[in-house]
Amino acid sequence: MRFTQYYVPTLKETPAEAEVISHKLLLRAGMIRKLTSGIYTYLPMGLRALNKVAAIVREEMDRAGCLEILMPSVQPADLWKETSRWESYGKELLRFQDRHGRDYCLGPTHEEVVTDLIRGEVRSYRQLPMNLYQIQNKFRDEIRPRFGLMRGREFLMKDGYSFDRDDEGATVSYRKMFDAYQRIFTRLGLNFRAVQADSGAIGGSYSHEFMVLAETGEDTIAVCESCAYAANLEKAAVVWNGEVCTRECSGVEEKLTPGQHTVEEVAAFLDVDSKKILKTLLFVADGKPVAVLVRGDRELNEVKLKNLTGATEVEMASPEQVRKWTQAPVGFAGPVGLGVETVYADLELQGDTDWVVGANKGDTHLVHVDLKRDAKVTGYADLRDITLDDPCPECGGTISLPEGIEVGHVFKLGTKYSESMNAVYLDENGKEKTIIMGCYGIGVSRIVAASIEQNNDKDGMIFPPSIAPFEVSLIALNAKDEQVMATAEELYEELRSLGVDVLLDDRKERPGFKFKDADLLGAPMQVVVGSKGLERGILEIKNRRTGDKQEMDLAGFKEAFMTWRKEVYAQWGLEA
Ligand SMILES: [Zn+2]
Repeated sequence: MRFTQYYVPTLKETPAEAEVISHKLLLRAGMIRKLTSGIYTYLPMGLRALNKVAAIVREEMDRAGCLEILMPSVQPADLWKETSRWESYGKELLRFQDRHGRDYCLGPTHEEVVTDLIRGEVRSYRQLPMNLYQIQNKFRDEIRPRFGLMRGREFLMKDGYSFDRDDEGATVSYRKMFDAYQRIFTRLGLNFRAVQADSGAIGGSYSHEFMVLAETGEDTIAVCESCAYAANLEKAAVVWNGEVCTRECSGVEEKLTPGQHTVEEVAAFLDVDSKKILKTLLFVADGKPVAVLVRGDRELNEVKLKNLTGATEVEMASPEQVRKWTQAPVGFAGPVGLGVETVYADLELQGDTDWVVGANKGDTHLVHVDLKRDAKVTGYADLRDITLDDPCPECGGTISLPEGIEVGHVFKLGTKYSESMNAVYLDENGKEKTIIMGCYGIGVSRIVAASIEQNNDKDGMIFPPSIAPFEVSLIALNAKDEQVMATAEELYEELRSLGVDVLLDDRKERPGFKFKDADLLGAPMQVVVGSKGLERGILEIKNRRTGDKQEMDLAGFKEAFMTWRKEVYAQWGLEA
């Protein structure tokens, strides 16, 4: 492509609305433009990157034996009512009516539609397993869409669904998708980890998220530095060393703590370590009160609590409920004499005593509390977030907590949708059985943004060669110099004949301006043709990622370039 015949409206200034780096750079590089809140148009450069990501996803899905379909984005409410999601999905589901007053929504996902399709098609065990996918726009009416393609309202996704006869088959399908995802994210040139995610009611390791590591990630993940263990924070198990405290402490005493609410305030006021203070957190689990105790310097993990209670819904207690159960103002709840029957405590609380807790009395705390002696604890369980001090749950190694951006998710659904929508088949004995499902998502447009979040510098984007809109920026430095232009044209045709995606900057602009744009646009390879170099029979090449510049002889360019290209690909873990 020639720059002069292309449309790349780069901007010098970053639009004020952009908060994250990928959003800023996508706008500056002229890859996307906002139509309205959370909804974007892809300009030619942006669409090239998007299409390259989609092509890799499609190839690997096809290779894994999945069949591509395309389902409508407009979905009838009736299907969503069958699974009760019409009521439970919340305001992210954009609902509207047609001229006949019938309810519809814009699909944020397609479980209902695909299950409806299958129950109308699949009759016999002979038709299973089946694995269908699509690459389709989704719509989620985010309350505050921001961050550009990272969290838009409309976004491009690959969503896939597997259908199996039994649990064993579903596990095979899951594994196949897991492997396909590993190949996809490797081919995209991204630094990623497959992390164990919470699979809720299904249990087991049947939910993995694929996270692109980036300093600007929105989720923290726990990664072992010694083994392959990786899990998101919700799921990462905290292993307790098992040492039960046998020390005894003196009797409980009341201390006045006027106006001291937070752990830090109480710790400072009573001059104790925040590790010795217990937070008493009150929840409502499916209508029943539950209290949870964790150390003052720890974070309660609500997903672990939800799994422990087995409740469908766990909510923080309201101030009225707190006042009722504690007989005290909010902020002074404690386990001694608490009007809540179910009290869970984090595992590690067995390893110490002499705690400071709320007194269930205004402006008062209790000191010298021994949980076994002074409180009624229903049970001890892993209820908090993992920290850097905790060992890897699999090998005992050191844990790190990098940030990640979720770009893919594989999930064993079980019979959640097939049961409520009656998707069944007849087995070998003519017996009716429920189909076992799995679902598998990849955020195609999100990947473009995540790749930029992971790979950028002060000058702009740095694209992996496999998804760069153009692999090579070919810069004709002095476009008025006929020899420069002629050589650049020749190299352009040569590269194209080699199957290399190349953008020829043939604009009559200053060299500095062109270099800036090339860096901003982030093609992994730059080839520069200038008058001075040509006098000596050389070109200049630059590796955008390393910044490494070299001279390359014009004679024998083809071979030298292809060798260099291989090296650049290899740096991204890719094969040219
Ligand atoms: Zn480990």
